[in-house]
Amino acid sequence: MSGAISLSERKLFGTNGVRGIVNEEMTTELALKLSMAIGTYFKGAEMAVGCDGRLSSPIFLDTVCAGLASVGCRVWNLGMITTPALQFLTKDWGLKGSVMITASHNPPEYNGLKVMGNSGVELPHEEEFEIERIYFASNWKLADWKNVKTPLPVAEKFPSYIQSVIDNLDGAPTQTNLKVLVDAANGVSVLATPPLLERLGCKLKVVNGNIDGNFPGRLPEPTPENLRKTSKLVSAAKADFGIAHDGDGDRAVFLDEHGQVCWGDQTFALITQDFLERYPGEKIVTPISSSHMIQEIAEKYGSEVVYTPVGSVYVSNLMLKIHAKLGGEENGGIFYAPHVAARDGTMTSGMICKIVAEERKTLSKLITRLPKYYIIKDKLFCPHSIKEAATEALRSLPTKGEVLDIDGIKVWVTPKAWILIRPSGTEPLFRILAEAPTKGMAQKIANKYKIRLSRIIKSCLRNA
Ligand code: MG
Repeated sequence: MSGAISLSERKLFGTNGVRGIVNEEMTTELALKLSMAIGTYFKGAEMAVGCDGRLSSPIFLDTVCAGLASVGCRVWNLGMITTPALQFLTKDWGLKGSVMITASHNPPEYNGLKVMGNSGVELPHEEEFEIERIYFASNWKLADWKNVKTPLPVAEKFPSYIQSVIDNLDGAPTQTNLKVLVDAANGVSVLATPPLLERLGCKLKVVNGNIDGNFPGRLPEPTPENLRKTSKLVSAAKADFGIAHDGDGDRAVFLDEHGQVCWGDQTFALITQDFLERYPGEKIVTPISSSHMIQEIAEKYGSEVVYTPVGSVYVSNLMLKIHAKLGGEENGGIFYAPHVAARDGTMTSGMICKIVAEERKTLSKLITRLPKYYIIKDKLFCPHSIKEAATEALRSLPTKGEVLDIDGIKVWVTPKAWILIRPSGTEPLFRILAEAPTKGMAQKIANKYKIRLSRIIKSCLRNA
């Protein structure tokens, strides 16, 4: 497996596509040339384009459709759609690729472009490099005037997608009678999750359900801080649970019946348990920052956890490579390959809904039964110039435990406790993550390695 590619090697594409502040970094000029490069990379193939509900999304939608068509692509204009629905349709319709216009969970002033291949998942970074090369060399191939095809609008985009979610729930319940609060973050997920939950017989309360690129309800990232009001609404509505999406609907964070925000690893653990109950021995794919809870559950079912660098692109592409069905991230992203190997907040909503309905237990009760782990997050300043040398020095630290160095360094201090030290891709710092069965132990491990890292950074600075 290849490790994480340093962000400094990439000029345009970041962790999830190209993103920036509209009319500063992210301009229509950039989008036009970039989509001409994308269309050239895909050799003028049939492609789909969709967008989220941001204020600038419609102008980028028209621009990208025009750019792709100018280099000979047959373009299906899907208009406003969730990222996972676009990804599913790319695969389902047998298209060569697609482009999603979204800045996902970023604040309202941002927008961006994500490029998907024929399996519906984001292109691996090596292929994004190819597109960058065409872009920077202005090496696009304009089509002959006779071969410029008008982009075609698509009206019906959600029925087949929602049907696929239902088909992949393995016996979807139709009369759950669960009361569910959906917080759509004024984003496009309102087009997908409520219609799915209605099919499952849920009673719905939708908040922040009007699509509005100003995000008047809350910021689009589903963090506990941004979900304070949603927490109160879940308990006031006496809902069985709440679902909070990000701006483009690929992530779902859950709130239990008391309005308590559940950690993404916990819902991933519930889904892993439910999946392995039916498919013991199947591999589970997850980034190295995920909780050991997943591994503990997997071991119980004779399954292996395969780790990737941090980032959904790595999870999706490794799942395709090793034919894994289930993947997940600690931020509330769940990937189910029989549907599409990309994170999908609506699919995740269906999975949790089915588990709560079948187990006949509250979400908080289901979470209480999971193995207990505590995570400590910390960071340490480190200039960009010595990050590589410091990472190298970390590698040579003596350790008795198992070590994974696919993205920073992860060391298992005991079979159930680990430390992960990763250089940030964008900021001058190292991120420190420690997990253990008790909070005290996690803190102790974090402190110990922070001191070690601090010594290494000082020594690298002296030698620089
Ligand atoms: Mg997203």
